[in-house]
Amino acid sequence: MEKANPQGLLSVVMPVYNEAAIVEESIRRVGKVLRDAGIPHELILVDDGSADDSWAKLAGLANGLPWVRAVRLSRNFGKEGAMAAGLDRALGACAVVMDCDMQHPPETLPEMYRLWQNEGIQVVEAIKNTRGKENRLHTWAANWFYGLFRASAGLNLRNASDFRLLDRAAIDAWKCMPERRTFFRAMSTWVGFTRAQVGFDVAPRADGKSRFSVRRLTSLAIDAITSFSAVPLQLVTLGGFVLLLLFALLGIQTVYMKLAGKAVPGFTTVILLLLIIGGTLMVALGIIGIYIAKIYEEVKGRPRYLVQEEKQSRPEDA
Ligand code: UDP
Ligand code: MG
Repeated sequence: MEKANPQGLLSVVMPVYNEAAIVEESIRRVGKVLRDAGIPHELILVDDGSADDSWAKLAGLANGLPWVRAVRLSRNFGKEGAMAAGLDRALGACAVVMDCDMQHPPETLPEMYRLWQNEGIQVVEAIKNTRGKENRLHTWAANWFYGLFRASAGLNLRNASDFRLLDRAAIDAWKCMPERRTFFRAMSTWVGFTRAQVGFDVAPRADGKSRFSVRRLTSLAIDAITSFSAVPLQLVTLGGFVLLLLFALLGIQTVYMKLAGKAVPGFTTVILLLLIIGGTLMVALGIIGIYIAKIYEEVKGRPRYLVQEEKQSRPEDA
């Protein structure tokens, strides 16, 4: 076992949710790649309230290997919470976040580390060359989301992933951002610093299917956009002005018709107007509601995650 080198220590953070079947094999693979490349490292495994045997496996690994630390959250907080728990505990001079289903190939790590160490790059993003096996609808929805995100928040995250290496400075900057609801890949882009990208091909999932349902992805997407941009609110105002202009024109026309004795009989116009106004108001209220809900959540200031248990043997014990 290599001696931990605080100068060059790489913390690998892995969120784990119901991955008992593959987690040990994943850790072995990551450990082997890093040892072969001679990179000093520690592994921080965060069990995000798994319902299966994941925690038992992680605790066993933490007992057996000096460079593994395991954290168990008190319930399923979601990947963002698990990543936050891991990064908060990272001791390294840099840290990388990666999925534990090996869709983020560990073989990319040495190149990411090299860019950090030799070229002083502070944020190394692994970019998806190909999105791997995924259904068409998912790809289409993801493209839409990234398009909307770019248009509203001004950050291009297309083909970005959570697989990225952050220098200590970037980790600390990220930790300083106070919001409870995080969106790691956007926040770690927003912080800036010197950046580089490496390509990777999304491997097939080592086991089973994605832990994210369509419902959860949709809610994450809405959350992401409203966390990073007030453009939807501005659109409500803009929509209001456009409608006002239309109504002014319609009003002038109506008065003119009335005065000219050519007023339109019947309710069609009235019904249409009511429907348009009613629908628009509901949508506008909905958008405002989403922001109010966000403010409410943030104001409560609840922690991003809660820890139930930790097992660690510090890398310096090695
Ligand atoms: N994950 C998690 N909490 C969750 C859902 C997922 O910690 O509530 C972890 C999961 O164990 C994996 C990573 O997040 O390590 C990515 O999950 P998955 O592979 O299911 O997502 P996808 O490949 O579809 O992006
Ligand atoms: Mg995956």
